[in-house]
Amino acid sequence: MTLTIHRGTHEIGGSCVEICSDKAKILIDLGMPLDYDKRSREEQTEIRHNAEEWCKGVDALFLSHSHADHYGFLDLLPQDTPIYATEESFAMLALDGILGDDPTKHLEKRTLKSGQSCEVTDIKVTAYIVDHSAYGACAYLIECDGKRILYSGDIRLHGVKGVLYKNLPKDVDYLLLEGTNILSAKNNPTEREVENQFVEAFNEAPDALHLVWCSAKNIDRICALFRACIRCGRTLVLDPYTANVLAAVAQLNPHIPTVTTAKQMMVYFPYYLTKRLLERNPESYIYSLEPRKNKVSYNDFMTKPKRYVMLVRPTALSYLEKLSIRHIRLIKSIWGGYWNEPNTERFRDWAKEHCDAIKDIHSSGHADTQSLQRIVEFVRPKTIVPIHTDAPKRFCDIFVNDNVKCLDNNEVLYL
Ligand SMILES: [Zn+2]
Repeated sequence: MTLTIHRGTHEIGGSCVEICSDKAKILIDLGMPLDYDKRSREEQTEIRHNAEEWCKGVDALFLSHSHADHYGFLDLLPQDTPIYATEESFAMLALDGILGDDPTKHLEKRTLKSGQSCEVTDIKVTAYIVDHSAYGACAYLIECDGKRILYSGDIRLHGVKGVLYKNLPKDVDYLLLEGTNILSAKNNPTEREVENQFVEAFNEAPDALHLVWCSAKNIDRICALFRACIRCGRTLVLDPYTANVLAAVAQLNPHIPTVTTAKQMMVYFPYYLTKRLLERNPESYIYSLEPRKNKVSYNDFMTKPKRYVMLVRPTALSYLEKLSIRHIRLIKSIWGGYWNEPNTERFRDWAKEHCDAIKDIHSSGHADTQSLQRIVEFVRPKTIVPIHTDAPKRFCDIFVNDNVKCLDNNEVLYL
């Protein structure tokens, strides 16, 4: 059996792992580098070409979760290639179809529940749901030729379902462990603490309209924000895309609040997004939100700003520009790097000019160093292989008593 990390040994994002036996070849994740859009045309062509090569002869792909740095090149897989993921991950990927294309639509989808195994000839793979900022993220155990490899995917212990790491298998031969935060000394707050910080921020400025920028797919964060809104007597107002995301997730988990089931959750309709959704599928995307009952208008925001918390993204700028409100505050509940992206410039400038305060209330989707140590203590791997990190050598300092093997991209490890 061979193990090859095609990308991810010295880079956060764009992960792709290949495992081959005599009889089968599987890939785990097929991600797009986080800086792909900033690369030159030539580089982009080369990156795609390399990913195409990795896909050749693949018998199945296992997807850890629905973030583009793990699934961004699924379109390169041949038609009808089997793709395994959790039901939750498939639901999140299908949501891409609301505004663009479902990246799995040409593939043969096979669902794995947590703890469930499948076999690709002589390679056995078992999924384990773990906590991450993508709904339904999982780790995979790969067993073949008497060896056991555990791939952590993206994982954290400080989230709502952090304790799930205790379901992971122990005493594996290799642990491919993500190290996004391995250079940071900071410990991350729990989602409950994040919720409390939201409450504090709303109470600090009771008359203001609070805007919160957060990923539509970070379900646990939106739930924390919603609980904070309830505690402060405010209504959480979503754009129709996010409202559809929650509606889809609620089909899998009825505890998830939605615009149509929760009293203090409503929807606003930015022009371009609404138009696009109407063009694509009016029945399911707009009318199902019952706009007559659940819509918050410009006038509502302007006359009663203190009643609302508005979930925003930079693309909602033209809507925000029409609001004439005395006190507005912005909370960024998203990875800090997005703030400085070139395509957020106009939104950034608008916020600096119109918001009384801009603050960060966020918690990473990735394990901090202490959590990585807890995972290793629990799993007791014979060898740790760093992945999804820009500082693989740092693993040697953190795990002094363990065997750490740093690989290079495309280096073939014979097991
Ligand atoms: Zn991720």
